[in-house]
Amino acid sequence: MPKGEKLYEGKAKVLYKGTEPGTIVQYFKDDATAFNAQKKGTIAGKGIINNKVTELVMHNLERIGIPTHFIERLSDREQLVREVEIVPLEVIVRNVVAGTMAKRLGMEEGIRLERPLVEFSLKDDALGDPLIAEEHILSLDLADEDELSEIFDMTHQINDFLRGMFAGIGIELIDFKLEFGRLYEEDEVSYSLILADEFSPDNCRLWDLKTGEKMDKDRFRRDLGGEVEAYQEVARRLGISLETEE
Ligand code: 5GP
Repeated sequence: MPKGEKLYEGKAKVLYKGTEPGTIVQYFKDDATAFNAQKKGTIAGKGIINNKVTELVMHNLERIGIPTHFIERLSDREQLVREVEIVPLEVIVRNVVAGTMAKRLGMEEGIRLERPLVEFSLKDDALGDPLIAEEHILSLDLADEDELSEIFDMTHQINDFLRGMFAGIGIELIDFKLEFGRLYEEDEVSYSLILADEFSPDNCRLWDLKTGEKMDKDRFRRDLGGEVEAYQEVARRLGISLETEE
């Protein structure tokens, strides 16, 4: 697919300039990293699945009124998105205790929270994305109060919708990470907040509702094996065709 110059290579994606101004092409790799890139590997076919799962999720979220950066899928591994200024926060939503929350608070994984918890991390790989409070965000001017309140509103709506979507295919949505971006108008001053980045088994925890089996990147992080099959099963249940053009 035609694309412009390479802008940035991340752990799981490469970003290129799109052919139209204000657009970016996201290329999804099979590379997998964990624990701040201390563990590295690949999950065969992951890039194709994550591209298609992100397409489906972004498309469904647009339908319920969440603005996203997604424009269209271009190929197996590429999608066209709007260029935004990324808000330097990782917005983490938890429905069930797992991962770093379990570790930090000395809790068992699997405890259901009374209500969904929204946490923020500073998006900074060198620092290991440290957990920060709303007060840090406001004091450091990473986002203002209006933006934070919009982020909370959109995040809860996204969580409500996606929990239902996954429950419908026998999967419990345990937690996930979102990123938001500022989409500037032509005057380069006014902007709106939109959902950016991706939504895939790389940035969420998905447990089979019946068996509790992990169907996400924890299979890779924790050396459980079967990560290729788990990603494929998520795609299959979502009705995503994995016939490739490659
Ligand atoms: P935890 O804080 O328990 O490691 O992660 C909580 C949720 O956010 C998990 O679903 C995890 O996949 C996602 N997450 C947290 N940090 C990152 C990150 O830096 N990259 C990605 N892809 N996902 C993350």
